[in-house]
Amino acid sequence: RTVYVNGKYLPENEATVSIFDRGFLFADGVYEVTSVLDGKLIDFDGHARRLARSLGELGMRNPIATEDLLEVHRELVRANGIVEGLIYLQITRGAAADRDFAYPSEDTPPTIVLFTQNKPGLADSPMAKTGIKVISIEDQRWARRDIKTVQLLYPSMGKMMAKAAGCDDAWMVEDGAVTEGTSNNAYIVKGGKIITRHLSNDILHGITRAAVLRFAREAQMEVEERAFTVAEAQDADEAFFTSASAFVMPVVELDGAAIGTGAPGPVATRLREIYLDESRKVAI
Ligand code: PMP
Repeated sequence: RTVYVNGKYLPENEATVSIFDRGFLFADGVYEVTSVLDGKLIDFDGHARRLARSLGELGMRNPIATEDLLEVHRELVRANGIVEGLIYLQITRGAAADRDFAYPSEDTPPTIVLFTQNKPGLADSPMAKTGIKVISIEDQRWARRDIKTVQLLYPSMGKMMAKAAGCDDAWMVEDGAVTEGTSNNAYIVKGGKIITRHLSNDILHGITRAAVLRFAREAQMEVEERAFTVAEAQDADEAFFTSASAFVMPVVELDGAAIGTGAPGPVATRLREIYLDESRKVAI
């Protein structure tokens, strides 16, 4: 696989980052994951905008212009022959001279890394046909979940708790309401209305979320942006989640209780189709 590190395209086994990199020592970095369908990038502009925002919130320099970043994405897709898959991008505050909590000087160059993940069949996932099972867990993350940092240990623990319970993912709960999934935004459907948590610092502002809500409204579906409880989700007609890597994914069980019929519902199924169709049309 060809990867990109700090301006160079290299075979993955030749790509290196310093042991003093602040991403490694302090999780002092941000990331984005963009999906590829038909060899084209889905919602590149949205990911580039959120990246700029995450960097800004952390007072980190953006080391690459958006048009150059697009070119790197395209070159990696080409070099690795990606038809369906993902592109992972990470920018950290770079390598300081030594380990120190205080940020290094402004002229320290950020570290930028990109690599591809080949996922043939990504859009045709069998999970989308059966739906997935989730558990609820307490949300123990920090309070700036709107910044897409590489500090992902708690979501990783949540994923392991889900697996231990025989499930696929965990929805995190704070003050009695669902915040989001370990790596996705959470939704329920009740009486035809799509309900998902409003944007704030409590959740990541999903790029897929923004697109799906826009498509839902364009299709005259009713959308309500507010917090919902686990009990409400268990009593819902449908549930689903969205992310750049899973698109729209039906959720059919929460803490052992079947949601709706226990099979993917019509709203989630339709939104997945619309999202994939519309996104492919405008992919770049
Ligand atoms: N919430 C969290 C916590 C996530 O990690 C992700 C995916 N990175 C999302 C939501 C979904 O965001 P997006 O649609 O931009 O992939």
